[in-house]
Amino acid sequence: DVRDMLGVIANQVAASLDNAQMYRRMEEMATTDGLTGLTNHRTFQERFSQLIERSARHGKKCTLILTDIDHFKKVNDTFGHPMGDQVLKRIAKVLEANVRKIDIVARYGGEEFALVLEETDAEGALKLAERIRMDAAGQSFTKDGGPATVTLSLGIACFPDDAQDKVAMIAASDKCLYAAKHAGRNRAVLASSLDGAAQASKARALKAG
Ligand code: GH3
Ligand code: MG
Ligand code: MG
Repeated sequence: DVRDMLGVIANQVAASLDNAQMYRRMEEMATTDGLTGLTNHRTFQERFSQLIERSARHGKKCTLILTDIDHFKKVNDTFGHPMGDQVLKRIAKVLEANVRKIDIVARYGGEEFALVLEETDAEGALKLAERIRMDAAGQSFTKDGGPATVTLSLGIACFPDDAQDKVAMIAASDKCLYAAKHAGRNRAVLASSLDGAAQASKARALKAG
């Protein structure tokens, strides 16, 4: 009787473990990007909203870095899409290796990534962005077409200094990313430096006018 009873219990435990494992796999598939294993876009949006709320409640800062691989289309065109995929995976690893466990590293889309740094100001984020930029530029990829390297452009906005909600934070970082591209790529741009530049040019215009 005891053996039978233990058999029944063991079967129940096995079924529960299977369910738990399947649940974990499904959750992972729903929240991560299939190619890079990073947090996917939807989960990034959810977690970033939560972090902004938490930062506001506790009067803390947090920073968003949006980054985009420079001339990535050329990598695909020259070396093929499989090589492009390898580059995306390696850049994802570079990003993960440079942040803390509490930070969010997400594939925002295509060859664009988002990093959310908790309790980090613009100055701290710029240091990190520079480290990531150098680290990424130091990676080398080889294929029949020869050795290849890639560079990153990065845009940085800090909550609540540069923007006060999630949508505005993304827009502010994106504007900096665009400015980094426009200024020649392979660089990081801070929202506060853009404001400064805008004010300086306004002041110059006023003076001239
Ligand atoms: P820029 O410096 O202005 O960002 O130029 P770019 O070439 O990086 O930008 P563009 O938007 O023209 O090209 C992005 C390319 O990224 C085009 C698209 O095919 C490629 N891409 C997006 N997702 C993937 C992917 O999952 N794998 C591969 N191999 N390529 C991808
Ligand atoms: Mg892009
Ligand atoms: Mg690009």
